[in-house]
Amino acid sequence: MSNQGSDVKTSGSVLKGIGVSPGYAIGRAHLLDRRRMKVPKYHVGPTEIANEIKRFEDALDESEAQIKEIKDKLQNAGEEHFFILDAHQLMIRDEMLVDGVRNMITEQEINAEWALKKNIKSIRQLFENIDDEYFRERRADVDFVGDRILRNLMGSAHPNLSQVHGDSIIVAHDLSPADTAFLLRTPVLGFATDVGGKTSHTAIMARSLELPAVVGTDHITEVVGDGDMLIIDGSAGRVLINPSEDELRRYQRLQMAYSARRAQLAMRKDEPACTLDGRRLRIAGNIELHEECGMVLDSGAESVGLYRTEYLYMNRETLPDEDEQYEHYRHVVELCGAEGATIRTLDLGGDKFITPLKLGRELNPVMGLRAIRFCLREPGIFKVQLRALLRASAYGNLRIMVPLISGLSEVRAVKALVAVCREELAAEGRAVAERVPLGIMVELPSAAVIADILAREVDFFAIGTNDLIQYTLAIDRANEHVTYLYRPLHPALLRMLKFIVDSARDAGIRVSMCGEMAGDAFYTAILVGLGLDELSMNAVSIPLIKHVIRSIRADDCRTLLAEVLTMGDAPEIERHVADRVKHLLQGQIPIEVFDPEHHVQT
Ligand code: PEP
Ligand code: MG
Repeated sequence: MSNQGSDVKTSGSVLKGIGVSPGYAIGRAHLLDRRRMKVPKYHVGPTEIANEIKRFEDALDESEAQIKEIKDKLQNAGEEHFFILDAHQLMIRDEMLVDGVRNMITEQEINAEWALKKNIKSIRQLFENIDDEYFRERRADVDFVGDRILRNLMGSAHPNLSQVHGDSIIVAHDLSPADTAFLLRTPVLGFATDVGGKTSHTAIMARSLELPAVVGTDHITEVVGDGDMLIIDGSAGRVLINPSEDELRRYQRLQMAYSARRAQLAMRKDEPACTLDGRRLRIAGNIELHEECGMVLDSGAESVGLYRTEYLYMNRETLPDEDEQYEHYRHVVELCGAEGATIRTLDLGGDKFITPLKLGRELNPVMGLRAIRFCLREPGIFKVQLRALLRASAYGNLRIMVPLISGLSEVRAVKALVAVCREELAAEGRAVAERVPLGIMVELPSAAVIADILAREVDFFAIGTNDLIQYTLAIDRANEHVTYLYRPLHPALLRMLKFIVDSARDAGIRVSMCGEMAGDAFYTAILVGLGLDELSMNAVSIPLIKHVIRSIRADDCRTLLAEVLTMGDAPEIERHVADRVKHLLQGQIPIEVFDPEHHVQT
């Protein structure tokens, strides 16, 4: 699906994007526009109009004085070509500009900056439409004058995330994973962005935090101002801007129905995920921050299947030391009890960056020095984490998982480092569990193709479909323009998945899936058919996936898998799976939480 921006008016309009986290949010917009000059946009009350006009007039006076000063300097230097500055001086007092902004402030009750920005845009448009090169060139002058006034208007910096109120909806060009992690501490209702893909880490965080979110709207920051009323429909990927009373009521009803369905599913969240014919899967939770551990366990997870530890390194000026890391890992592993936790070593790079590690810019960061490649290049940093993990292993069932493995030598290098750390800790008299399983993420095509070889070298596999799909189908997971190519049921992927699971089974090791595919109910029947031992996902998906597993037969799922493995094209497979899933579930899954049709693309 590509972004399909509507012809937008600022009220009563709908923007289409990619729904990346289900549910509905209704609230006021909080605009974070970091891309260009941060222009605050908000509505003002009737009593503040005079003050806004005064601010605007002061900014005009200041701008005029500045231009005069520059002109004087040029004149004193003997420079005569300052006619362009004369033009700018005239423009500052031009009726169209001045009256236009005054009228907008008064009639639309908006702040001076917003009115100026809007007015400059329409004046620019006028020049653009004139069929004369000279006039078209004048657009740059309009921008220049507009910028100068704007800068004089804006004394204070735009509010940042730390000033966001809990009852707002964040609207931004983009949010980095670090920004989104921040939202755990400043809970908001939901968010919408201009850019982003379905499995970008920002989208994943939204699901983790159970925040309805729509990304890839293309231009929401252009049309929404602070304080606008918004409805985020994270299930359908729609944002309603200043909706009518009728729409508001309709969405309030949907919101209530959605919560009721979720509450109904949650009633059986702690029951095991066992198919009608007795095949049991372990359902685990994905977490980014140790604070989320309780949340996934409360949602029905039996363990933590993926702890993305790189978030521990974000939003700070220094790297976490061994003791700090050890405390976090120990906390998680102790909370998880008998089933334990799978903790992944540092997976930075791609769309995740860390302030204290001032890494050089790479042309293709997704294919660059990320994850295990970085850790093996910087063994000093890596060893701090390995030692912390080994120390925490004394307090529970801790599994170490290594991301982005491309081949055997990386696995062996990690094992050697783990052995060194173990020896060091023993020499220091520190306790370490006798056996700490070491597994790998299978998320590169190279690892998938040699899964049989790798399976003999490690204790478990976790399939990372987000990256496996990205690298196999050559689609940037954070790019909304290629989201339509994100197709987990592409036959190339299905064949890889089957080979990975079969290789694990042949070698007698456990295999889980912790990419976003695992938490999407549309794929559950296929995953059960494949024979995975564990599915690890965000908290929000757990009750639904357990419910789906309890409603189907593993036998039927194996038949479905065998059928699709004979098919050659993703759309054909998607249609077939949608039909079969609807039939298998016999209408048991309510449409508010799961609609198979959303997964069928043409
Ligand atoms: C994956 O790639 O599927 C995965 C689980 O890891 P991440 O999303 O953190 O890259
Ligand atoms: Mg990955």
